[in-house]
Amino acid sequence: MILDMFDLSGKVAVVTGSDTGLGQGISKAFVEAGAKVLGVSRSASTATQEMLGAENFSYLTADLSTLDPVETIINTAVEKYGKLDILVNNAGIIKRQDSIEFSVDNWDLVINVNLRTLFFLSQAAAKQFVKQNSGGKIISVASMLSYQGGIRVPSYTASKSAVKGLTMTLANEWAKYGINVNAIAPGYMATNNTQALREDADRSAAILERIPAGRWGTPDDLMGAAVFLASKASDYVNGFTLAVDGGWLGR
Ligand code: NAD
Repeated sequence: MILDMFDLSGKVAVVTGSDTGLGQGISKAFVEAGAKVLGVSRSASTATQEMLGAENFSYLTADLSTLDPVETIINTAVEKYGKLDILVNNAGIIKRQDSIEFSVDNWDLVINVNLRTLFFLSQAAAKQFVKQNSGGKIISVASMLSYQGGIRVPSYTASKSAVKGLTMTLANEWAKYGINVNAIAPGYMATNNTQALREDADRSAAILERIPAGRWGTPDDLMGAAVFLASKASDYVNGFTLAVDGGWLGR
């Protein structure tokens, strides 16, 4: 039956950035679809665990601006749940500053979290999938700025454009192992990430006016796309960045 193809019962997922926002929504979607989730965030994912229950959701606290936690993350998922099926690279940060003054720190921090760790965590997950001979699903959270330039966010745009390219590269190399590598490009979603934009009355009005759906997105808006790309229903979808943007890119 078609709905069975979306069932994640028995699957094990790692979701980065699970303490709040979109990663919390994706964790909720996976648990509701039947999966066990190990969340990884800068701060403890206690609110997510309270929402989903400790039997379905456990978490690590780790700083993903370095590669130090990569091995521990994969090992913890495997030790706790016996295997790994799904990785969601959702953790990400944005730094806003005029490009003419943009600091090296704002460049390095964003690139390290949004791209460098994303690549090496994907590599570690892929090695585990190959070891298990199971195939697997890797989903990265990209952005509208995988497609557009943005303003005052050069390291963010560079990282998210690279995520879209890398998604294609990894799909090309890892499809032969039964690994699907896709990305979701959220539009403008109401989370901490966009708080500064939403508090700027002029920018907020300009953004809202341009979204055909006429509203900011919410973490719940990503749940369907996340389950689709994590499930058997997307087995022949590979290397693609799926926009969930209320129509923004079509405008
Ligand atoms: P958010 O700021 O609420 O969440 C960011 C998450 O990343 C948090 O869970 C945080 O713990 C984690 N994180 C950041 N730096 C980390 C570090 N050094 N170590 C470990 N974890 C770290 O924002 P969000 O909107 O939920 O963002 C989630 C993802 O979605 C990000 O990759 C973001 O770029 C992307 N995104 C968001 C929007 C939007 O409109 N909100 C749009 C496009 C893409």
